[in-house]
Amino acid sequence: MACAAGSIGIMRVLVTGGLGFIGANLCRRLLATAGIDGVAVLDDLSTGFRHNLDWQSVDVHIGSVLDDTALDRAVLGCDAIVHLAAIPSVPRSIVDPVRSHLANATGTVAVLEAARRHGNVHTIVAGSSSVYGSNPALPKHEDLATRPVSPYAASKLAAEAYTLAYGQSYQVPTLSFRFFNVYGPLQGAGHAYAAVVPAFVDAALRGQAVPLHGDGSQSRDFTFVDTVTAVICTALIQRVTSDFPINLAFGTNSSLREVIAGIESLVGHQVLVEQHPIRSGDVPHSQADGSRLKALFPEIRPVSLCDGLQLTVEWMREHLRGETM
Ligand code: NAD
Repeated sequence: MACAAGSIGIMRVLVTGGLGFIGANLCRRLLATAGIDGVAVLDDLSTGFRHNLDWQSVDVHIGSVLDDTALDRAVLGCDAIVHLAAIPSVPRSIVDPVRSHLANATGTVAVLEAARRHGNVHTIVAGSSSVYGSNPALPKHEDLATRPVSPYAASKLAAEAYTLAYGQSYQVPTLSFRFFNVYGPLQGAGHAYAAVVPAFVDAALRGQAVPLHGDGSQSRDFTFVDTVTAVICTALIQRVTSDFPINLAFGTNSSLREVIAGIESLVGHQVLVEQHPIRSGDVPHSQADGSRLKALFPEIRPVSLCDGLQLTVEWMREHLRGETM
């Protein structure tokens, strides 16, 4: 496997999608990281929120990655790009596949072109475990055949393929991660496309039934957002690149029923479950083979599901308190 790490220096980083869940958590960490002296954000506010970041400390550009002028303005003077902007939802992509393709695949080509125009800027791209799709093999090793079952997964696979191709064809230093069910503070709940952890925690704290699609035996490699941002930060500082995609998860495996039980013990009461049919495009099980990740980032220790859920419940409790004041 061809992987490389470069020198450490002071740098300015552009985060696309920086007003979203992972992006805003990442910006907050970058601002506190030695060696990073500036953070810019490009976000079109399609699923992100202005209030996720303190605009005093981050240079925020409102605009789309599909707009070259906005991209050029945002990337100017940056030594690295973390490309997170996307429409990150399987159900949304099933409703509007063309919109997902434009934001996720065409948007990634636009970001890679900007990286090229601005002197081959180191570019880290958020891919997704959804690319494994209907391939039943577990754990998911990066060399497994990809079999997307949703337009979202297809668009993320295209984004990843372009990222790796730009590394080979134009020597843009790139790193493409496959994220697995990231959860934590700042993740939105209470809307039709909410991810499972925030949807469950929100319902449990409000004393409502949690919406469960399927029987709850589906399992995921849940990754706390601080673990994801720690890996990305280290990759930036060490200028890590790779010719192959890297799973960003540590090989854990928890069922939705186990997540509900964990939330029950944290909120201190029994949680009711409202059963729904399984959603189209959902895969039954997902668990990463984390060996490539651990070889590249041996110093990173993942936050456990128990600790991550506790931090998520605490944040959401505060958030709900703010709503009612
Ligand atoms: P999010 O919706 O909170 O963040 C996405 C951000 O991108 C939002 O702020 C949105 O406004 C912005 N955006 C969308 N289209 C844009 C465009 N055309 N131009 C500029 N900004 C645009 O989602 P997230 O969970 O933080 O996801 C971040 C990335 O991680 C996405 O690429 C997603 O596909 C990937 N990912 C997330 C997960 C997860 O579990 N959260 C899993 C796999 C992959």
